[in-house]
Parts: sequence; C-alpha cells; structure tokens
Amino acid sequence: MAGATLTDVIKKLEAAYPPARAESWDAVGLVCGDPALTVRRVLFAVDPVAAVADEALDWGADLIVTHHPLYLRGTTSVAATTPKGRLVHTLIKNDIALYTAHTNADVANPGVSDALARAVGLVGDLVPLRPFDDDPWRGLGRVGDLPRRMTLGEFAEQAAAGLPRAPGGLRVAGDLSRPVSRVAVSGGAGDSLLGTARAAGVDVFLTADLRHHPVSEFVEAGGPALIDAGHWATEWPWLDSAASILASSGVNVETRVSATVTDAWTRGY
Ligand SMILES: [Zn+2]
Repeated sequence: MAGATLTDVIKKLEAAYPPARAESWDAVGLVCGDPALTVRRVLFAVDPVAAVADEALDWGADLIVTHHPLYLRGTTSVAATTPKGRLVHTLIKNDIALYTAHTNADVANPGVSDALARAVGLVGDLVPLRPFDDDPWRGLGRVGDLPRRMTLGEFAEQAAAGLPRAPGGLRVAGDLSRPVSRVAVSGGAGDSLLGTARAAGVDVFLTADLRHHPVSEFVEAGGPALIDAGHWATEWPWLDSAASILASSGVNVETRVSATVTDAWTRGY
C-alpha cells in the first residue's frame, strides 16, 4: 500500500524546488501538517482555497501542494472567522497537510515557466529569461522557439489551445499578422519582466496580469508583442510537471492534479 511520511515527501519536493531559491518576500514550505503524518495521496493545485480543500477531502488526500502561499504576509490568528483561518481548520481537522512551492518553483529547472513553454508549443532548448548570476540554467521566465515562423494570431490560437481555458480569456497586444518565432514566457504576473523581454529580443512575451498603461506604452515603443493568458492558466501546467517529479522520485505516493479552476476571474463576456 502506498505511503510515506510527510518528511520524506517534503525532502523530495525540496530537492526539486530548493526553498533557499525562493524570493526573500516569499513564504514557501509547510503551512500545516505533522511531519510524522503518513502521506498516501498528494493533490497538486495552484491556489489554497476552499474549493481545493473540498476536492482534497473528496479524494482522500493527505497532502495538498500548492503554488501560491496561504499567508504571504504572515498572520496573528488562524481563527475560523476568516476564509484562510477556516481553511486551516478544515485541513487540520481532517489531517491534511499543506505545502507551498512558489518562487522556488518559478526559478527551478524544470520549473513553472518550462511547463508553460511546452504547453504553448515551444520546442528545443529553453533558457531563463532572467537567469541567476550563479546559475545560467535557473531563473525567472523562459525563452525558446516555435517549430516554425507563424503569425502572432496563429501563435495566440495555438497558446489558447495548449493551455486550460482562462476564465477571463487570452488577450493579445500587437499586430496579429506580425511574424513570431522567438518567444518568452513567464507564469503568473510578468509585469516586472517586460523590459527584460524587450532586451532579450524576442518576438512575443506571454505572461499574465498585465495592465493597460504598461502594455500600451510597450507596444507603442515597438514591442515585442504581448499575450496575457491568465494567471491560473499560465501556472496550471506546472502542476503536472511537479506531480510527475514527485511520482518518479521513488517516494511511494499517489498523485493527482486538481482540475478545479481557481482563477480570480469567474468568466469573461
Ligand atoms: Zn502566481
């Protein structure tokens, strides 16, 4: 029968996503759970929200691994008077542990943006958009190539088909007939990488959570073209990658990727 201690599972996760590589403002690692807990089933999800906890309960998960932290800025209370406190109660009462790999998963190799790059159809070698000074193969974002030159419109359609449907839709900024082949991607909010994408000389940068003025000014200045594919949709492909890494690490657990859509937006019209 499947089973490992939570400590064993965390060791495997931290080998793939070293916590020391997380940003200083981040909050990664074990949120709740007894290290001696026996883990048989691990659910991977983007967000630690009530719908994901319900899914974990229904499936009988012992551990939820999420990309986003529950408490990014700390807290003085986990009373069940707030949604987050309620979630902590649900998890502890049902012996479900919660573990987060966030910016340490973004910069890993393979990490969040590798899975995104493959999902939107990039082939060949991928290099970080913003590599670490001490490691050229790890860092934020990825740059890679399409198998052939295509129009921006064609690439947008290909990206939309390769990603889970973003409730808010996938938005494109730039001339749809513009040819593209070199592509940068970054899962989640990629505002801070706009200048880096331009300096990298890519044809298009695909990320999420972009805003009107930065996008307008960027495209007016000649680009690259931009695609906002939605926060949840751009990070979701990583779940399968992380689940596969854990499943093949030798630890005897069953893994599942959450299909619950936890994007902040419910629907676009
Ligand atoms: Zn994110």
